[in-house]
Amino acid sequence: MKTIGLIGGMSWESSLLYYQIINQTVNKKLGGLHSAISLLYSVDFEEIKALQYQGKWAEATTIMMDAAQKLESGGADFIIICTNTMHKMAKEVEESVSIPLLHIADATATKMVRDGMKKVALLGTNFTMEQDFYKGRLTEKFGLDVMVPNEEDRRVIHDIIYQELCLGIIRDESRQAYLRIIDKLSRQGAEAVILGCTEITILISQENCSIPLYDTTRLHAEAAVDYALGVLYFTP
Ligand code: GLU
Repeated sequence: MKTIGLIGGMSWESSLLYYQIINQTVNKKLGGLHSAISLLYSVDFEEIKALQYQGKWAEATTIMMDAAQKLESGGADFIIICTNTMHKMAKEVEESVSIPLLHIADATATKMVRDGMKKVALLGTNFTMEQDFYKGRLTEKFGLDVMVPNEEDRRVIHDIIYQELCLGIIRDESRQAYLRIIDKLSRQGAEAVILGCTEITILISQENCSIPLYDTTRLHAEAAVDYALGVLYFTP
């Protein structure tokens, strides 16, 4: 089994899910007392959030590269970044180490394409919904047609992530707001929704929704297990 190197803490609420899903999945596949071999480098999210909001992406990239290098020197065989947003610097992080990086958008889009999805809606932080690093990959590498909510809805989605979900705060009012936005996107032609922020799964689940949801946290964590066990169906 390969050693998984996780860059987490963005927020730790979702790193917790990664750790749980990875270990549960390994145990389901291998049985007995099997669990994942992993290393977690968890950052101070307040520091990262400040750099994000100030647009100091170069400094944030340095922190991410440093984390990846520490994981590599600690024995990780590959890296996963446990947030969608911080895949903005995935290329730099990957180039800073000699081990592979398993991209969250690849884990998600591979499954969507296999399921025959074409027109998909993306929910995440404003950085993820508005910049091209994530949408561009979905479109160029996987041929997906990606929609995002309108400006006002994007603000609602983004604020709930930073002000509530990253602090573990779950409010029914926020869940209803997300469901209203998803319903609107569905009526505009989205066949499925990407939960493109690793905390959204804390708030909404498939039972709440009439169109398919693709949970990036679960898909990324499961792909990491497949790669660790040598059965990944795509090349990182
Ligand atoms: N975990 C979130 C994501 O998947 C947001 C936090 C962050 O900015 O990294 O994008």
